[in-house]
Amino acid sequence: MTSAVKSIDQIAAELQGYDPQALPAADVARFLSLLVTPVTDRLELPLFEALGRVLAEDVVSPFDVPPHDNSAMDGYAFDGAALASGTALQLRVVGTALAGKAWQGTVAPGECLKIMTGAIMPAGLDTVVPQEFVTVQGEHISVPPKLLQAGDNRRLRGEDLMQGRAALSKGELLTPARLGLVASLGMKTVSTLRPLRVAYFSTGDEILSLGEPPREGAVYDSNRYTVFGMLKRLGCEVIDMGVVRDEPALLEAAFTSAAAQADAIITSGGVSVGEADYTKTMMKKLGDVAFWRVAMRPGRPMAVGRILQAKSAPGPRPADSGSSQNNSTSNAAILFGLPGNPVAVMVTFLAFVRPALLQMMGCSAPPAPLLRARSQEAIRKKPGRTEYQRGTVSSAADGSLQVRTTGNQGSGVLSSMAEANGLIVLHHGQGNVAAGEDVDVMMFDGSI
Ligand code: AMP
Ligand code: MG
Repeated sequence: MTSAVKSIDQIAAELQGYDPQALPAADVARFLSLLVTPVTDRLELPLFEALGRVLAEDVVSPFDVPPHDNSAMDGYAFDGAALASGTALQLRVVGTALAGKAWQGTVAPGECLKIMTGAIMPAGLDTVVPQEFVTVQGEHISVPPKLLQAGDNRRLRGEDLMQGRAALSKGELLTPARLGLVASLGMKTVSTLRPLRVAYFSTGDEILSLGEPPREGAVYDSNRYTVFGMLKRLGCEVIDMGVVRDEPALLEAAFTSAAAQADAIITSGGVSVGEADYTKTMMKKLGDVAFWRVAMRPGRPMAVGRILQAKSAPGPRPADSGSSQNNSTSNAAILFGLPGNPVAVMVTFLAFVRPALLQMMGCSAPPAPLLRARSQEAIRKKPGRTEYQRGTVSSAADGSLQVRTTGNQGSGVLSSMAEANGLIVLHHGQGNVAAGEDVDVMMFDGSI
């Protein structure tokens, strides 16, 4: 590791009252923000391939958008100085300006120009009267009084984007609107940070891969599919490593191969206290890892740290741009050892892994704010831990937000997660919630 990278012990020392056996959720988030660093490798991408990527640098506008004053309406353009009289105007129409072509000619006082939306406003004209407000008599139009002010229905040059100013900033996620904005600047490509590569596998001898015949006491692996989906929604490149049996050699091979290829590794299962398996042993052997009991529900056990890359296997990084490697991941992958229970996996991913991965992606956006919604039922809650309840948020008759839980909240009950459109977040110090009381909710939106 380079000296810039802090060890798990160094990070722990920075957290006041750090107790791995009872770690508040807020401390987990803070710990992770100290553990991870953003990638720095860049990729110049065509716009159609850049959706969901993070900008590696500011996008500076090479010209004004729009490049000319232009009409916001189909109507008649004239010099707004004439409105000072406060009376109806009689104007002679001297021509027609179409969008996409500059109209050649001059418009004298008492005259106007028929103009289409988007057409350039000729010099001296600053006001457009929409066509539906005028009466046309032969070559003349009549504009009613007190309808307009000078400058109405005109779009100003540079009102959208000014030449030389940053239209978008480094660290912004390329959303559909931002792709359109870049396109409006005539740019075909954009400089992005390379996507993260995230490897994941499930552990546990009772876990069946799809296609295997059912077996007594065994369950099909659902965690790889929820993790896959959540990673894809973040725009990560995923490396699916399957279900790994509880055998030291297999676990070692999986961790070593994952660390060689990926920026981050997500595992599920095998990190709870009573586990009689080798997962934790192998994490300790191959990395610098903290084992926690988080004061939360669902999702108490977690392992977090780094898995070091074996010296003998430098691991070619398949999609690398060839530029200098990001120092935080060139010799270690960040490990998120999640609990095994299917809902605990999703909740810990949303609460902790997702924000950490966004930070690694170089994304500068603050997390989406929690919303307030009225709880339609009483909820039991113990102070001293953060609880996440699956819920359905809807609009009440008066338009305000309301939320109800989706039934069985057991940490393995995926059906109540599948039904939910958000999580009710009951904070560390919070106690019971009465029916009708407002609670915080985290909407899933596009994240899961
Ligand atoms: P563990 O954290 O390994 O003790 O697992 C807790 C519970 O989650 C056990 O009931 C496991 O069977 C279940 N579990 C662990 N991994 C998976 C998985 N990949 N898919 C579905 N259930 C799982
Ligand atoms: Mg297990």
